[in-house]
Amino acid sequence: MAARLDPVDLTRALVRCPSVTPSDAGALAVLEGALVPLGFTCHRLKFSQAGTPDVDNLYARLGTGRPHFCFAGHTDVVPPGDVGAWSAGPFAGEVIDGRLIGRGTVDMKGAIGAFVAAAAAFLEGRRDGFKGSISLLITGDEEGPAINGTVKVLEWMKAKGEIPDHCLVGEPTNREALGETVKIGRRGSLNALLTVYGTQGHTAYPQHADNPIRRLMRMLTAIADRPLDEGTAHFEPSRAEVTSIDVGNPTTNLIPGKVTARFNVRFNDRHSGESLKAWIGQRCAEVGGRFDLACEVSGESFLCPPGPWTDRLATAIRGATGRTPALDTGGGTSDARFIRNLCPVAEFGLSSATGHKVDEAVTVADLVSLTEVYRRLLAGYFADPPCPA
Ligand SMILES: [Zn+2]
Repeated sequence: MAARLDPVDLTRALVRCPSVTPSDAGALAVLEGALVPLGFTCHRLKFSQAGTPDVDNLYARLGTGRPHFCFAGHTDVVPPGDVGAWSAGPFAGEVIDGRLIGRGTVDMKGAIGAFVAAAAAFLEGRRDGFKGSISLLITGDEEGPAINGTVKVLEWMKAKGEIPDHCLVGEPTNREALGETVKIGRRGSLNALLTVYGTQGHTAYPQHADNPIRRLMRMLTAIADRPLDEGTAHFEPSRAEVTSIDVGNPTTNLIPGKVTARFNVRFNDRHSGESLKAWIGQRCAEVGGRFDLACEVSGESFLCPPGPWTDRLATAIRGATGRTPALDTGGGTSDARFIRNLCPVAEFGLSSATGHKVDEAVTVADLVSLTEVYRRLLAGYFADPPCPA
């Protein structure tokens, strides 16, 4: 028989482990300590790769049957920054005026505390009759290089045949109030480094030189002056933002021979990293002259189309918070970009307002509500699974 677990106690215990990436600082042991008595089988997965720090991860599963529902998240946190500016110790786990203050409370130890408390509440009284599976995929490498974390846990899961039917990532998805927003996909992200070459010369004799800056400006105008498209059904328009233009020329009468620019493109499902690279190269070629273009795609765009699975989630949110969530794809990337290769994935967590800031905090009320969202989600999901059995 599962016991009631308090999401606030669990989150405090996690916050008290200063698990700044790549350090675990005991956070996964806290989770194991809560999951094993509930009946979960825990696998600690430590991965390493030359040139990156070793990272501890945890995969825990209760049950062997289907449907198989997976909660995913990360216990690593960003550094506290200016510790003196915090109104309580960033790793003290203090509750002041109904708010639990600490690094990682919002992003995202609070959601992990809620995962476990919700699973315990869901299992209470129904252990023997439960035929499905609940799992947790918890990484210690989300805020860092993301090399020895979710990607490698997913490879391990695939090799072991541990394929969930659906996955919920507990990243903070709401801007202000709990229940505002579910993420059903994310835009892709591409970083470009563009180098344009000309011929160095005297500004008084430009006819003997070839100024590459003029061409670069025309290229950047073609690429970044307006959105790349009008947006799609679930995505805002794709857009390039120039982040740096560098000549490094201190001389007033010298035309430089070379200029570089960097820009980032956040793109929707009208594009892929490859199609975008080709499009950018074409815009540059139209301007002409010699240039080098280097692109790196840190994630493709993806979408989990609204349907029975997202309906179960929206119903749980409405039941627990009274709000009907918007299904959104804005904001930055998350580990959902890897998980979507294994199974349909959506994201719902706390409010992101204080994430990564000094005095990151979650209200006790929100932690209790989020636990109720997840509990209702499990109840609705297993009562009427949104997938073929
Ligand atoms: Zn996060």
